[in-house]
Amino acid sequence: MTTTFIKVDYMNKHRIFINGEPDSVERCVSLINMWVWWSYVGRAILEEIFDVHKILKINIVPYTENPNVEPKTNWGNIPDAHAKGYFHPGQAGQKDVEGTGRGSEMYIDLNENLSVSENKCPTIRTVACYTYMRPEFALMHELVHANRGMRGKMQTHSLPNQDMWNSEEEIAILITNMLMSEKGVTALRKDYRTNNVMDSDDPAKFIEQEGNKDLVKQIAADHPKLKRNTNTNAVHIPFNPIFMCFQGKPTAA
Ligand SMILES: [Zn+2]
Repeated sequence: MTTTFIKVDYMNKHRIFINGEPDSVERCVSLINMWVWWSYVGRAILEEIFDVHKILKINIVPYTENPNVEPKTNWGNIPDAHAKGYFHPGQAGQKDVEGTGRGSEMYIDLNENLSVSENKCPTIRTVACYTYMRPEFALMHELVHANRGMRGKMQTHSLPNQDMWNSEEEIAILITNMLMSEKGVTALRKDYRTNNVMDSDDPAKFIEQEGNKDLVKQIAADHPKLKRNTNTNAVHIPFNPIFMCFQGKPTAA
């Protein structure tokens, strides 16, 4: 295959490297430029990525090379990707992870579909196959993971709700739901391991659920640009738990 690293420039200084076949690379660049960037939620996540001046590489693997690649974000350096103070004891002979908060180079793997593959998606329970697996939302989800690793914010905790998998998935799903809502989607993703839709996109109901207020406060603290872009009545995002949490009411219709 032809390997081309291309450079996406934002304001002449920011870079994401995208590697793959020319058609796939072009689709990916278009989605970032014309979909993610043109939203308050997506732009905040991208601006935070650019601000740290660390490398993000997106690798789009052709099906002919490997038909089994699903969207995944990987660390360059695990302790650096994790928050200072985070500790995870190593299991099965692996080393302990002690976060430094320094931030790490990050890598996103995608297949040609830029989403969960068509053949795999319907056959396994562990992947949600719905609106929220459209390439633009799958890409946004991975960009949130990459953002948090590049900025040394990751804290991977297991959760009582097993279907959510872990706290980093919970955060990636929540922020992507906000982007989906901003783009007009009402069927939001409920969790990680099922294809269930959230019962409601009412942020008041979301905030009332145990633990969610603390979760939203943590996200706002970890993502100041996201808070800046969404904690305002000037932007209409129906599912906006950040505004709900800090202003005590939903954004005006
Ligand atoms: Zn994820």
